[in-house]
Amino acid sequence: MIGELDYIKRNLYSVMERIEKAASKSGRSAKDIKLVAVTKTVEPDRILKILDEGIVDLGENRVQELTKKYDILNRECKWHLIGHLQTNKVKYIVDKVSLIHSVDRIELAKEIQKKAEAIGKTIDVLVQVNVSGEESKFGICVQEAYGLVREINSMANVRVKGLMTMAPYAENPEGIRYVFSRLRDLSIDINKEKLDNSSMDILSMGMSNDFEVAIEEGANVVRIGTALFGRRS
Ligand SMILES: *Cc1c(COP(=O)(O)O)cnc(C)c1O
Repeated sequence: MIGELDYIKRNLYSVMERIEKAASKSGRSAKDIKLVAVTKTVEPDRILKILDEGIVDLGENRVQELTKKYDILNRECKWHLIGHLQTNKVKYIVDKVSLIHSVDRIELAKEIQKKAEAIGKTIDVLVQVNVSGEESKFGICVQEAYGLVREINSMANVRVKGLMTMAPYAENPEGIRYVFSRLRDLSIDINKEKLDNSSMDILSMGMSNDFEVAIEEGANVVRIGTALFGRRS
């Protein structure tokens, strides 16, 4: 038990150190970068370890797992839905999430608008962009991202806060640096449109295998699971 506690804590400190190094490389401070601990498949007792270390942002990619853990943990934490979201499941999470990272189509945004309006809330979202064009990845293509952000901008109860991407797995993350720089450039371009109800404040990019490169390219939210909790079985 003691070993397990130390394991997560040690991993967290190592990740935080690496975040700090990558941030300073790009002339920023670790304080500017939010760590979302990705807790998918992680048991609640192990999630508590990371909450005890002061981490408050938790990421799940499946609705059912998020709602289950939301009830079990019953803690003051912020839930991030980071995975593909089916339209018919919006109703289960709209009152629970602090940020949806994976809005990639207008039908989904419209459903979030509908359910958010019904409970009198405004939901913060990121538009997920498939920069690399990999078929297996969700996300809207770069060219269509502008239009989606504009459409959501006109919705009263959904607010775009930035962009998210998932890079393809690469043995050497240098090979996917371009994915992160493209997303950053896209957010700069969209920001020029000065949409009144949207912002490009958040760039959610970088996972265990590539977060340092992502931070160097401007990420201010990183989503990290394996490097904290170990390999998922
Ligand atoms: C699983 C997952 C992560 C975390 O991946 P790790 O490699 O375990 O750090 C980040 N983002 C999304 C969307 C994920 O599904």
